[in-house]
Amino acid sequence: MMMTSNDIHIFLLFLIPLPPPYEYEITLSICLLPMSTFILGIESSCDDTSAAVLKDRKVLANLIANQDVHKNFGGVVPELASRAHQQNIIPVIDNALRSANIQKKQLHAVAFTNGPGLLGSLLVGTSFAKSFAFALGIPMITVNHMHAHIHALFIEDELQKPPPPFPFLCLTVSGGHTQIVLVKNPYSMEVIGQTIDDAAGEAFDKAAKIMGLPYPGGPLIDRHASSGNPDAFSFPHPQVSGLDYSFSGLKTSILYFLRDQLKHDPNFIEKNLHDLSASIQSNIIQILMKKLHLAARQTGIQHIAIAGGVSANSGLRKALQEQEAAGKWKVYIPRFEYCTDNAAMIAISGYFNYLQKDFAPLDTVPFTRYKS
Ligand code: ADP
Ligand code: MG
Repeated sequence: MMMTSNDIHIFLLFLIPLPPPYEYEITLSICLLPMSTFILGIESSCDDTSAAVLKDRKVLANLIANQDVHKNFGGVVPELASRAHQQNIIPVIDNALRSANIQKKQLHAVAFTNGPGLLGSLLVGTSFAKSFAFALGIPMITVNHMHAHIHALFIEDELQKPPPPFPFLCLTVSGGHTQIVLVKNPYSMEVIGQTIDDAAGEAFDKAAKIMGLPYPGGPLIDRHASSGNPDAFSFPHPQVSGLDYSFSGLKTSILYFLRDQLKHDPNFIEKNLHDLSASIQSNIIQILMKKLHLAARQTGIQHIAIAGGVSANSGLRKALQEQEAAGKWKVYIPRFEYCTDNAAMIAISGYFNYLQKDFAPLDTVPFTRYKS
């Protein structure tokens, strides 16, 4: 582990008595005792305001304020999201520090999401982090939200498996992204496949919206799917080359299918909600797994992880676990609370950057689209 400027250096001098003529031999032993590092993480890239405090790789507090204000709009309204972040950010951070039982002056750094995400939302976290770090005289660390989803696998938590060895593959699936990432080390991640249109989470949310479910629909489809038949309805699979994905066609085929069914039976959705949910979920999982299998075959890597909001999906988690049970892959799935957006993953990502002394200047600005 790399030492940092905050490490305590203790020099111990031993004088060992010896017979003449040596009198004394002086043994100098140097112990470097790394001090614990406390990092405050701030997440505000979309519609969750979250703050976490980590002691090295362990979570002391991880609080999230969700925004209900978007429910009636079928998606996140950027302006409403940034206003809600402004209201939430101070109480959330205050509560995170209190519940971690940490004083501001004990913090070593402030890590915050600087992209990708909604600009107005990112600006709230970025502006707060800048002034907070400046006032405390501690470094600030910018965190890439998508890398943080993967770094969540490295949180030390007794309810979570030890992290995968390098290199491993990670299917990072959220509301805005769907990527197959070759993770060479915590600082080197290569996107080897990605969606060419909608993200997997978007497919869940749009399908749910067509069925009249509120936003975000992914968790609701998951819940209804548990008592439905995944083979009740079938939807086409996209034909995309290589390791890339496409989900926009699924949305259109669900839309046309339901439009036709509703002509014959206006109650078709209510009557078939569970089977529809199970069939849609199964279709999305099959699409995701097909390319993940291809990536594993092409790279020869058998250590496979999932991350991001959609990795909370019970069907996807089960599909991975079945591969492990069949002795094919070693699989790594984050604890449920580290899948959807949270600041613990921002703080652990910040911790990795802290070890590299990768600090951000005060004039740093957020970015909206993914960059590696
Ligand atoms: P973001 O996309 O803003 O980074 P997250 O990483 O939290 O946010 O991902 C949110 C997405 O994950 C949403 O599209 C949501 O519907 C989806 N999601 C969350 N839980 C589940 C679930 N259990 N099943 C399917 N999708 C889910
Ligand atoms: Mg996310």
